[in-house]
Amino acid sequence: MRTACFGLLLTLGSALVMGQAPKRVVIRGAMVVEGVGTPASGPKDILIEGNRIASIVPAGASNAIQTDVEIDGRGRYVLPGFINLHGHIQDERAGKPMPVDYCLKLWLASGITTVRDVGSHWEKAKAWRAESAAGTRVAPRLLLYRVFSAQTPDEARKKVEQFKADGVDGIKLLGTHRDVMDAMSETARRLGIRRAHHTGVEETNARDDIRNQTTTIEHWYGIPDAALPNGVQGFPASYNYSNELDRFRYAGRLWREADPARLSEVLDGMVKAGVAWDPTLSIYEAARDLDKAANQPYFKEYLHPSLGAFFAPNLANHGSFYTDWTTEDEVFWKENYQLWMRAVRDFAAKGGIVGTGEDAGFIYRIYGFGYLRELELQQEAGFPALKVIQHATYNGARILGMENQIGRVRAGWLADLIVVKGNPMANLKILYPHQGGIEWTIKDGKPYSAAVLAADVRKMVAEADKK
Ligand SMILES: [Zn+2]
Repeated sequence: MRTACFGLLLTLGSALVMGQAPKRVVIRGAMVVEGVGTPASGPKDILIEGNRIASIVPAGASNAIQTDVEIDGRGRYVLPGFINLHGHIQDERAGKPMPVDYCLKLWLASGITTVRDVGSHWEKAKAWRAESAAGTRVAPRLLLYRVFSAQTPDEARKKVEQFKADGVDGIKLLGTHRDVMDAMSETARRLGIRRAHHTGVEETNARDDIRNQTTTIEHWYGIPDAALPNGVQGFPASYNYSNELDRFRYAGRLWREADPARLSEVLDGMVKAGVAWDPTLSIYEAARDLDKAANQPYFKEYLHPSLGAFFAPNLANHGSFYTDWTTEDEVFWKENYQLWMRAVRDFAAKGGIVGTGEDAGFIYRIYGFGYLRELELQQEAGFPALKVIQHATYNGARILGMENQIGRVRAGWLADLIVVKGNPMANLKILYPHQGGIEWTIKDGKPYSAAVLAADVRKMVAEADKK
């Protein structure tokens, strides 16, 4: 009955958008990348029952098993679904609305099956998380790390308790006072709440994350900042941290000021304390080549006009700092990237856990595309593609404390998988939605046609462009 099954596949993408989950899915004859850094092997059949991977057997060994849906895996690679450690679910930008499905479908179309949201509209996000879990909204798994702030240690402790009662999956911390961070961290650790820290150039830096065993450092600033010989960067007298042009300009001159010996000691401390690093290399790329970032070939079809308007230079919109961006700024940032990438590589070589996050919705980065660009930049940082994929899958799962559930192609794990036509280790670019390499994104056992998802997104953009 194979041909009949393939007939069913043609309508699968749209059918599953209606929320129907097949009981039993088989991917036949695919190469498998498990996600833990081990090489591809196959061809194999992957049998999915309900929302779990039931078994992985040599190609052909599952032929006798009756299935509801068959996916042709020949010439394809199956990977664990990608884990985006740094997402913001957005349904508007600076007051201009856009459908939340634009963001959610782009993530799925890019192979992302889990998103750690690190700051969005809390009440709305709770509803989206519930709908995703129930299978009533086409979306990756959503984990909500709610943005935390407090003025005093007492307030911090109470707030963590309240967050727990409200059902957070974790806490997102931005710049804060040291005593507030310590009180928050102590309470959160007692309650078993994970923490993602956007470690800025503030009172707290990576040394505070080491002391408090923060789950992840987001971005990077607080790492070189903790390795400055004078304890402070050589800012010009006129520097204003609240001015984003200043902030992004001089951030590009931060890594060069870090003392290599001190930096090594900070990285060692992170490894020892189990602080993982989500460097989000991709979100800063406009700083080293503004014109390239602002003119991606896929913008015409995939950039929602609300997002496009937000990206235009404007100091009132976070990340749209390039009101007066210079050649010299780009030169500094190119060097900054070299030093930063070396630090990420050194951290991993010391045994640190590197994860993969995106931070799209800012600085010319579109959901999904920004994440896949992160994979390319981690390869540029010196990691082999297999390792890059491990960062995006198994490492992400470890960082979330879900390493026994997601992030691997392994029997018993949740069926969050992607089916790629072609070999992503040979070229990560095939993964982009406009390249069409990802054919299927399977989340919780439900296969979604990436082509159908991408077409839905293009339609949303075309309709918004018309208005
Ligand atoms: Zn962010």
